Formats: sequence, structure tokens, C-alpha cells
Amino acid sequence: MGIDYSQLRDPNAEYTMRDLSAETMGVTRERGQGRDVEITDIQTTMVDGNFPWTLVRIYTDAGIVGTGEAYWGAGAPELIERMKPFLRGENPLDIDRLTEHLFQKMSGEGSVGGVTVTAIAGVEVALHDLAGKILETPAYQLMGGKYRDEVRVYCDCHTEEEADPIACAEEAERVVEELGYDALKFDLDVPSGHEKDRANRHLREPEIAHKVSIVEAVTEAVGHRADVAFDCHWTFSGGSAKRLASALEPYDVWWLEDPVPPENHDVQREITQSTTTPIAAGENVYRKHGQRRLIEEQAVDIIAPDMPKVGGMRETAKIADKADMYYMPVAMHNVSSPVATMASAHVGAAISNSLAVEYHSYELGWWEDLVEEDVIEDGYIQIPEQPGLGLTLDMDAVAEHMVDGEELFDEA
Ligand SMILES: [Mg+2]
Repeated sequence: MGIDYSQLRDPNAEYTMRDLSAETMGVTRERGQGRDVEITDIQTTMVDGNFPWTLVRIYTDAGIVGTGEAYWGAGAPELIERMKPFLRGENPLDIDRLTEHLFQKMSGEGSVGGVTVTAIAGVEVALHDLAGKILETPAYQLMGGKYRDEVRVYCDCHTEEEADPIACAEEAERVVEELGYDALKFDLDVPSGHEKDRANRHLREPEIAHKVSIVEAVTEAVGHRADVAFDCHWTFSGGSAKRLASALEPYDVWWLEDPVPPENHDVQREITQSTTTPIAAGENVYRKHGQRRLIEEQAVDIIAPDMPKVGGMRETAKIADKADMYYMPVAMHNVSSPVATMASAHVGAAISNSLAVEYHSYELGWWEDLVEEDVIEDGYIQIPEQPGLGLTLDMDAVAEHMVDGEELFDEA
């Protein structure tokens, strides 16, 4: 094991751990050697990246620390602060039980969707890092082992002239040739100059023609060197989405993402079943329950959960398992720092149906500085063999890029 518990505890003493399943039966259970580690504290700090990333650190009485990340957004640190009483004294190896416990205890804060789910996910990711370090095994191993040694990364691309097909094609060429990616994504909800009223979600024919011109320019520029997805950010009506998806059929796009708003899965299914253009969605629904109908009714061709948004590493693996019953691949949405990106990669290594993990920060310049290790190389993440996530936070870089008014972790 490598951890000398005799240095921490009297090995002959009898220790009891809180076990919620046991407590509900009116008993407490003793745990064996190797499991008598307790959570002592949880802290967060926010980093000012291209999104305000919430980093999470879980501390234990064994001196081992786990690092996680919640999906970006206001409120996650406060919610994690409110979770402390439910985690202190607990055994960090019971990841699933602790996570379900948090979903139950945080129901008043709204743990069926939104920031409460993403805050719990940040803790869940940190628990995977922590459990891996306690057991001295990589996080993917906790999830059943590897299907692959490296996980494909797709690069979310932007240009200042986002509505110019030529500029998009030139950026695609640059990202393939200079940055080394073989998988890209561009936004397709860009202004065409032909809009009459964007609130009604209707796409006029010249708007569709403009979007087709972007897709044609980009896909013809990269050819078979890269797969290219296009994101619509929940913008269009059902009928318009069908017309757009149909118009894109000759261009063999990797997928068309979120053509309609995320609430109505019936409309999503109608679009998916109307076209040979692969349709992806799932980034804006929460937990396995939110993804259930998308999968069961085959309302998408590709399910696209965001790991720290949807509820964490195991939640994503559970969604992937359900999707696999419908022979459906998983493309993980991701806008996180290296911490949750690497955690998504561990999930991607451990599930059969992983298509790719997104990278959304290529314009930032210091994304990888937050950790000591290399993360993305030539468009792929090599899955580390070090314990947990296999990353070490660079505290100087975290301090340099903290959101104004944030404090660094106490230990640093
Ligand atoms: Mg998207």
C-alpha cells in the first residue's frame, strides 16, 4: 500500500467509521486496516480562466489530499462549503455512497439540476483523485480499467471573423497543421446578416445557405485529416433544425450539436430521426436522469454530457453505460481547467463508447500551466499511470490566475 498507517494510528486500536447505510439500521460497522482514513476538510478556490474554474481540494487525516473541479459558475464554492458537515469524518473511498448522500442532503439546494449538481460533481472528482492516491492506483482503474491508453481530444475553434467561411477554413487548417488536432468543433449559431428576428428561432433560407457555406469551407479545407463538429447552442426551431440538418447531409459532419433548446426531448428525437446528419446533445441536462430519455428514445445519435456538469466521473460512466445499450457513442463536452479535463479523460479511457473529450481553451495560452504535467499532446491525452488523476497543481500558477478576491488553499 505504501502508506504506513501505524504512523497515523495505533494499529491495535479499534476504529469505527461513520457508515450511513449502517447507521440507518441503528448500528455502526468497524472497518479494516486501509480504510480508516477520514475526510477532515474541503476547500475551494476559483481560477480566472476563459471560464471561472472552481478547483476543489479534499483533505484527510492521513495527510493525503484529493483535487477536483466543479463545472464553472457562481455559487459552487458556497454550496461546497455547505456540504462539509456531510463529508467530515467520512471514508473517502466510498465515492458512490458519499455522492448519492450529497445529492440527497442537498436536495433543498436543488440537486436535480444546475449548480448544486455541478458543485457535488467537483467533490466527486476530488474523491476519485483522493481514493486513487490512498489506494495508489490511477482513477481509471477505480472505474474498471482501460479500453484505451490515450483519449482523443477535439479542439473547440474560434476566429474573430466567426461568420466568414474563409476565416473559419483558415483557422481549421491552422489547428490541424500547427496544433496537431485531428478533431475540431466550430460554432454555427453565428450571425449571417440575413436575420429578421432571432427570438422566434426560425431560420430563413439565406441563413441556412450561410451556415452551409461555413460547413462546406471547413470540411473541404481539412478533408479526411480531421473530423469536424458544429455547435448551434440551442438556437433554432424544430423545423429549422430539420432543414439545416438536411442541408448539411452532403458534408459528412462529425455531428451537429444542440440545434434546438434542451428541454423538449420529443423535438430532439424528431430532428435526429429526420436526418442522416449525426445529432449530439446532452450538455445542458443533468445527471443520468436528465439524459435518460435522450438515450432510451434515441433522441440523439451521440450523447454529449459534460462530466463535471452532469454529476461527476461515475455519473458520466453510468450515462455511458446506458448509452452503450443503444450502441451510442459518448462525446464529452468540456470547458474546464486541466483538472476536470484529465478527469474526463480517465472516464474516456474507462468506457467502451468514448468518442472524444473537448478542449475549449486553446486561445488562453496558460491553460496547462495550472498543473506540473503535460496534459494534451498532439490532440490526445495520454492517460497517466500515477495515482488518482495523475496531476499536481502548480500552486504558483493557481495563485497567479485566481479570481480577484479568492484565497489560495490553506496548505499552500
Ligand atoms: Mg455545445
